[in-house]
Amino acid sequence: MLLRHTTAKEIERKALTINPAKTCQPVGAMYAALGLHGCLPHSHGSQGCCSYHRSALTRHFKEPVMASTSSFSEGSSVFGGSSNLVSAIDTIFSVYNPDVVAVHTTCLSETIGDDMTQIISKANEEGKIPEGKRVIYCNTPSYVGTHVTGYANQVTSFVKSFSTATPKKKNVVNLVAGWMEPSDMREIKRIASVMEARTIMFPDMTGVFDAPLTGTFKMYPDGGTTIPDMIATGDSKFTIGLGPYCTEDACVKLENKCKVKFEVLEIPIGLKATDRYITALSRHANLPVPDALTEERGKLIDLIADNSKYFWGKRVALFGDPDTLIPLTEFLLTLDMKPVYIVTGTPGKHFDEAMKDLLKDKVPEAKFKSGECADTFQLHQWIKQEGVDMLIGNTYGKYIARDEDIPFIRLGFPVVDRAGNNFFPTTGYVGATNLAIKILTAILDHIDRTCPEEKVEFQM
Ligand code: SF4
Repeated sequence: MLLRHTTAKEIERKALTINPAKTCQPVGAMYAALGLHGCLPHSHGSQGCCSYHRSALTRHFKEPVMASTSSFSEGSSVFGGSSNLVSAIDTIFSVYNPDVVAVHTTCLSETIGDDMTQIISKANEEGKIPEGKRVIYCNTPSYVGTHVTGYANQVTSFVKSFSTATPKKKNVVNLVAGWMEPSDMREIKRIASVMEARTIMFPDMTGVFDAPLTGTFKMYPDGGTTIPDMIATGDSKFTIGLGPYCTEDACVKLENKCKVKFEVLEIPIGLKATDRYITALSRHANLPVPDALTEERGKLIDLIADNSKYFWGKRVALFGDPDTLIPLTEFLLTLDMKPVYIVTGTPGKHFDEAMKDLLKDKVPEAKFKSGECADTFQLHQWIKQEGVDMLIGNTYGKYIARDEDIPFIRLGFPVVDRAGNNFFPTTGYVGATNLAIKILTAILDHIDRTCPEEKVEFQM
C-alpha cells in the first residue's frame, strides 16, 4: 500500500515529475553497445553513473554487465575529463583488450562540454589505440531524452563508425533492432531464417544477455553483431528498422552514407505488426512466406477466437517505451480489449500521432501522454478516477497494481522482480501467443480469486 496517498484529483504540474516512466540515456547506450561483439561500453563521467547504469541492466537481465568509466574526480569535474579518458583508453586496451570501446557521455561530461572527437583523436595521436582497434562515441546527456534516445544514439554511432559501401551490393537485408529482449531478437531472426532470408541484425543481444552458464567467465560473450557484419551493412540491399524511436536515425544515416534504402516498422509485437514485418521481409528479400509461419499465425488467431469473451471490453492501462507501447496498443485492440490510459516518459510526436490514429474510433475516451511530464503518478490518478481491469508495464507498476488490486502483466524495462521476461519472446506470432496467454491467465486468475464462491467455475 505504498501509494495509498495518491489522490484521484489532479493538480496541474509544470516542473515536477513523480515516478517517471523512463530512465537515463546512458543506460540505453550501454545496452546497445553490448550488442556489438567484442565491444566494451565506456561511461565518460563519474563512477556513480556507470555503477547505476550497469546495475540497472544487471538487475533486469541477471547477468554481469561489463563497462568501464572515466572515473571523474573533483578536478575533472572542473577542468574536463580529457586526460581521464585518454588514460582510460590506454588502460582498457592493455588490460581488457576489447575490439571496440564505445564511449558514451553523461550529464557531467556534457555540462563541462568535453569534445569527444578531439579527445579520441588525441588518444589516437598518442598511440593509445592499438592497430585494428576502434574507439567510437555517442553523446548521451541525460537531461534530454531517455534510455530510448541513448539506445538510438549508440546504434547510429555503429553506422557512422562501421558501415561501409563497396561497389558490390549483397542480397542481404539489414534488421536494425530497437530496444527489445534478447528473446525477441532471437524470434525475429528465427522468422527470417524460416523464410531463408539473409539478414544482418544490429545490435544483437542474443548470446550476450541470454548466454548459458558454462562455469567459464567470458568478458566478451559469443553473441553480438560481429564487426565484419557491421561493416557489411553498407553493402546490404535494404534495411528494415524495427521501432522508429530506436532505429530511424540509424536507418537514415545508413542511407545517406551507403545508399541503402530503408523502411521503418513498429517492433513486431502482436498480430498486425508481425504481419507487417513478415510482409516487408518477404518483399525486400524477394522470398515467399512459408506455410510454417502461416500456421503459427493461424494458431494465434485460434487462441484469440477461443477466448474472445474474456478479452472483450477489458480496460487496460499501460506504460513504458513508445516502440513497445504502439504495437502493444494495436494488439490489445486486436484482442478487443480497451487500452484506456497509455503513458511513456520518452518524448516524440510519433507516439501521440500513432495513439490518436489507433484509438480515435475504437476507444475515443482513451487518455495518453508522452514526454518528461508524463509519469506513472498521473497514470495512477487516472486509474483512481476510473478503474481498469489490467495494468501492463515494468516492475515499478507493481505498487499501483497492489494498491488498486488489479491484474498486472510485467513487460518492458526494467523487470527486476520476476524471472523469464528475457526468455519468452513477445515478438512474432509465437510472442503474441505468449503475450495473449499471459493476459488471459492474469484475467482468469483474477476472476477465480475475486468472484463469489458459487460462481467459481471448474471449466473456463
Ligand atoms: S541522469 Fe545523468 S547524472 Fe544521473 S546517472 Fe544518468 S547520466 Fe549520471
